[in-house]
Amino acid sequence: MRTILFSAPPARWPQYEVPLRAALAKAGIAARLVNATEHPERVDYIVYAPNGGLSDFTPFTGCRAVLSLWAGVEGIVGNPTLTQPLCRMVDAGLEEGMREWVAGHVLRHHLGMDAHIVNPTHDWAPIAPPLARDRKVAVLGLGALGQVAAGALVGLGFDVLGWSRTPRSLDGIACHHGDEGLVEVLTRAEIVVLLLPLTAQTENLIDTERLAWMPRGTVLINPGRGALIDDDALLAALASGRIGHATLDVFRTEPLPAEHPFWAHPKVTVTPHIASETRPESAARVIVENIRRVEADEPLLHLVDRARGY
Ligand code: NDP
Repeated sequence: MRTILFSAPPARWPQYEVPLRAALAKAGIAARLVNATEHPERVDYIVYAPNGGLSDFTPFTGCRAVLSLWAGVEGIVGNPTLTQPLCRMVDAGLEEGMREWVAGHVLRHHLGMDAHIVNPTHDWAPIAPPLARDRKVAVLGLGALGQVAAGALVGLGFDVLGWSRTPRSLDGIACHHGDEGLVEVLTRAEIVVLLLPLTAQTENLIDTERLAWMPRGTVLINPGRGALIDDDALLAALASGRIGHATLDVFRTEPLPAEHPFWAHPKVTVTPHIASETRPESAARVIVENIRRVEADEPLLHLVDRARGY
């Protein structure tokens, strides 16, 4: 009998308990699923989300894997007490949500919807939007989420550029990588979507210099992580017109503080970290598949490379 500790904010337990038990039963894994324990040394697996009160992994001496419910692991990957393998979440439900959010926000800017939704002076300006095939959209980050978002944009007909750390080859996407690739992508795209993890290499990637590479009026859409962008540099780029609009879902401090200039800025749309979220039914299957793999001595899925940071 294995012991699985669910360590996440309390509101998550009722969402995940039933799907996890069902997935364990379906996989034939006999396990005690708990959301608290006085015997950390007896825990075999930890299902982990930030803010669940767990920051010291030292007492979990028998733990065979830490299975993150979140795709982004920047809050745990550098934890010096974590010696166990760490897996991040790759979830079909999370991907579906991100595909829809990115497609919706790209279409909003591509079609110029704001001019018609908010039109207090009742202007009749019959200018049809261009076709998607004449719009260059860049997706920075071509991992699980970047690929589905970019794929949806290709499906809508957009001229899609992609950027990753290592070379990628994806149908319908002009893939670039590394420093030179970033110049190529940022100097050409009219809409830029950030789906990168937060690491030492990607923090402040979108700074004054990179913003200056972008064509005047570029729209920046960030469902990745807040610290990918230098906030002050972005505010300056919005003021100069270099950036035409920023749609931001993630922030350095969340909730975004009431006094933050993004809230009242006419060229900034704030969404409260809702681009997508892990869906309990599908995520439970991913978690249990990894437990099954450890039990069967098979390699873990979605293992985080601790040196790389994602
Ligand atoms: P993956 O790990 O699957 O993909 C990461 C991508 O970023 C890869 O293509 C990787 O390149 C690229 N990358 C990483 N570092 C660099 C670098 N230094 N230079 C260039 N490219 C780099 O992550 P996911 O797609 O699953 O998730 C991406 C992020 O989305 C998460 O880390 C999280 O921060 C965010 N997220 C936001 C949510 C929201 O609701 N707002 C919900 C869920 C996630 P390579 O292919 O070469 O490895």
